[in-house]
Amino acid sequence: MVSSKQDWGQYPVTVFYLDDQRSVTKSVKKMLKHTPHIHYHECNDPKLAIEQILNIGPTVILLDLHMPIMDGFAILQQLQTHEATQDIPVLILTMDASIESHKKAFELGANDYLLKMPDKMELILRLRYHTRSYIDHLERQAMYQTLLENKKKLKQVIEKLERSSLEDSLTEIPNRRSFDQYFEVEWQRAMRETTSLSLIFIDIDHFKLYNDFYGHLAGDDCLKEVAQALKNTLQRPTDLLARYGGEEFVALLPNTHGQGAMLIADRLRKKVLSLQLEHQQSPTSDIITISLGVVTTSPMIKHHARDFVHVADEALYEAKKAGRNCVICKSI
Ligand code: GH3
Ligand code: MG
Ligand code: MG
Repeated sequence: MVSSKQDWGQYPVTVFYLDDQRSVTKSVKKMLKHTPHIHYHECNDPKLAIEQILNIGPTVILLDLHMPIMDGFAILQQLQTHEATQDIPVLILTMDASIESHKKAFELGANDYLLKMPDKMELILRLRYHTRSYIDHLERQAMYQTLLENKKKLKQVIEKLERSSLEDSLTEIPNRRSFDQYFEVEWQRAMRETTSLSLIFIDIDHFKLYNDFYGHLAGDDCLKEVAQALKNTLQRPTDLLARYGGEEFVALLPNTHGQGAMLIADRLRKKVLSLQLEHQQSPTSDIITISLGVVTTSPMIKHHARDFVHVADEALYEAKKAGRNCVICKSI
């Protein structure tokens, strides 16, 4: 394909010519000297070629095949070993017209083959053609790279969004939505496998008074600390602690019977006490305390998940009535 004159400026040729015969490089230089948008570099010593190619960064390489010490085939092999040179088009320029050399050169990565001395116009057209396809290739590669990076960024954003839709932003523990999803799955599982399921409702005592006295920001810090302490107290990977809303948390304990759940509830209560978070205004204690309502069941068809949650809430209410900082258990 012959492009218009204007196009050549878009694809400036930087040619690197390696040939041990100075007389030949001289005549090629002469051919290309006054051609616009062609920058010419030459080398007569194969040992120096790779280093010079790496420095210059040509868009096309003209390569002689038969040279002393290191031939064009060895150069082709070396070009393949460098990431920066392996895609540069190589045009073989040789007196060797044998089919074997053609075959070997192409096998080793050459892109074109011309016999010395070529017609000036043909040489220029081929140099331009290879430069153009090389630059297009580099642009495609850069675009692909950008695409990969964008894809990676997009994946991170999606993951973050997914996390944030299931995580409470203040306490960084699962949110109510996450609990609802998990509860549904575990309820069905417990029914299928006839195992027991326990639920603990947890509420910070007199937290309104805490906020009123210490301020909302201190209230937030307190919620974060309590959330982490509760979370760290649960040990089984299947246990889930979520923020149910406000200063209420919920722990879902699959495969856990009533006694076990009561034990865990009391462990949670003691853990919060051990934080020793000052609460001067609390009528219950001078530190932050929690009240807990526990319910355990082995779900059956006739049971409703909503009733189960309701009973846990009732147990919590009773714990509040019983003086707070305590655990009340129920079963259905
Ligand atoms: P009780 O012992 O009966 O549970 O009393 P309480 O004061 O803890 O309960 P109440 O429901 O009257 O008040 C809950 C308070 O929790 C009210 C609100 O200011 C506070 N609260 C809820 N969510 C947040 C929050 O995200 N940050 C802060 N700082 N406070 C919150
Ligand atoms: Mg409360
Ligand atoms: Mg409450």
